[in-house]
Amino acid sequence: MKNFIRPIIIGNWKMNLDYKSSLSLAKKINLGRSQKGIKNDVVLLPDFLPLAELSLKNKNKNIFYGAQDTSPFSSGPYTGEVSLENLEKLGCKYILVGHSERRQYFSEDKIMALKMENIIKNSKLIPILCVGENLKQRKNGQTVAVIKKQLQEAFSKIKSLSGKKIIIAYEPIWAIGTGKNISAKEAIVVHKKIKEMIVAMFKNNLPREFGVIYGGSVNVNNFKKFKGSEDISGLLIGSSSLRAKDFLKIANNFFYV
Ligand code: PEP
Repeated sequence: MKNFIRPIIIGNWKMNLDYKSSLSLAKKINLGRSQKGIKNDVVLLPDFLPLAELSLKNKNKNIFYGAQDTSPFSSGPYTGEVSLENLEKLGCKYILVGHSERRQYFSEDKIMALKMENIIKNSKLIPILCVGENLKQRKNGQTVAVIKKQLQEAFSKIKSLSGKKIIIAYEPIWAIGTGKNISAKEAIVVHKKIKEMIVAMFKNNLPREFGVIYGGSVNVNNFKKFKGSEDISGLLIGSSSLRAKDFLKIANNFFYV
């Protein structure tokens, strides 16, 4: 397993933008990303409608596209679902899975194993698996135990990650959209634990590339504190990814060194 990956900055647009605004935001971000000499990757996660056009027409080697969620099924009679195969055919490279909003509002904790199994076994998409504790769990000192349970559940149907690239996004739920943040030191402790857990779970079948990124109220004023550690492989950004100027400032300045 490669010890660290190229830094990755992910913008999760959620259900915040209409079709035209999504295309316009993507255009601005594209203009602000040079094609050469950039030492990190940017991933944009629009909703499914603009995703098709943006991903299909993408020519920027430093920008990748992905979906905000996946179906637990590969294809067939599942009304309302979008298949991974379809996303891959559009050129998508990443797939977000287990975001706390999906776990909270769509009761997805119980189908995490099926979703991860579908991604790992039926696609080449790179999963960005979100984990993290709520405030009560944090106050009770359960952060590591909660994450361990989430990882064990998510990977319970998978025996090997050989050859795969896997991203885990550590997102303390109480820090999402609240303006509250953790220190980089605290993030590093949790990220190292996550890495240890993956190593313990997959021993001889480790992923080819593996990184843990941080998410939760990252903005132009605080992103620098997460910079510079190989244990923080990148950032998952919600609100600040909706402002091209802010997102570009973070994306174009987030490196290990
Ligand atoms: C998120 O929803 O994953 C997130 C990190 O949002 P925000 O940056 O707005 O806290």
